[in-house]
Amino acid sequence: MKVLVAVKRVIDYNVKARVKADNSDVDLANVKMALNPFCEIAIEEAVRLKEAGTANEVVVVSIGNKSCEEQIRTALALGADRGIRVDVETKPDSLSVAKLLAKIVEKEAPGMVILGKQAIDSDNNQTGQMLAALLDRPQGTFASEVEVTGDSINVTREIDGGLQTVNLAIPAVVTTDLRLNEPRYASLPNIMKAKRKPLDVLTTDELGVSVASNLQLLRVDPPSERQAGIKVSSVDELVEKLRNDAKVI
Ligand code: AMP
Repeated sequence: MKVLVAVKRVIDYNVKARVKADNSDVDLANVKMALNPFCEIAIEEAVRLKEAGTANEVVVVSIGNKSCEEQIRTALALGADRGIRVDVETKPDSLSVAKLLAKIVEKEAPGMVILGKQAIDSDNNQTGQMLAALLDRPQGTFASEVEVTGDSINVTREIDGGLQTVNLAIPAVVTTDLRLNEPRYASLPNIMKAKRKPLDVLTTDELGVSVASNLQLLRVDPPSERQAGIKVSSVDELVEKLRNDAKVI
């Protein structure tokens, strides 16, 4: 079975995001970028399936400008076999990404497409669901366990207050939750080897998809600054402040 993994280049999760002075977007100038953490989990799961002999090839795809190749190479160093970048200069919205991924699925015919449940920059949580709908294939989202059984996949999903297990006929779309696995670190020899693994670049014209968006980002605001706390000298004063200042009791 071939596994296709979709990976996104995002702002590193350790970086405190700054908003541009004109509030038009997050400022990414000179900011450390990284693999989206949920995509790292997706790569790890695909590589484990290959190591277990369940998958025979792991193909990683990223949609974006040339800088995304850094994250594709990271995925190759983590164990993926080859990479595909779809060249898009502007930030594509989730529907455009899903349409492009659907075209790649048509070409590659993977048994499983695995994505992160959400990209930590846009927080959309849409692409996997849209892809499954476009392909008319089953989806198992928020996976905390994935088990391939012959011609189907059992996905245990994290839902409010518990777990749900669904059985998906292959080919299927899976999105990863945080507890699915703990991604490995790339070793230096594997980083070197990854430089020689194949990485193809496709254009949106070749795939016949327009990335024109119906969605416009209007404004980005940082969270309001947290006010400093105060010390009170007695329980009575605390109760008085909660009642009259904070008005929470
Ligand atoms: P989102 O729906 O934007 O929160 O993203 C969910 C998942 O879709 C990500 O974790 C990736 O697996 C995939 N994805 C989103 N954007 C891209 C992109 N530009 N290139 C490749 N995969 C993407």
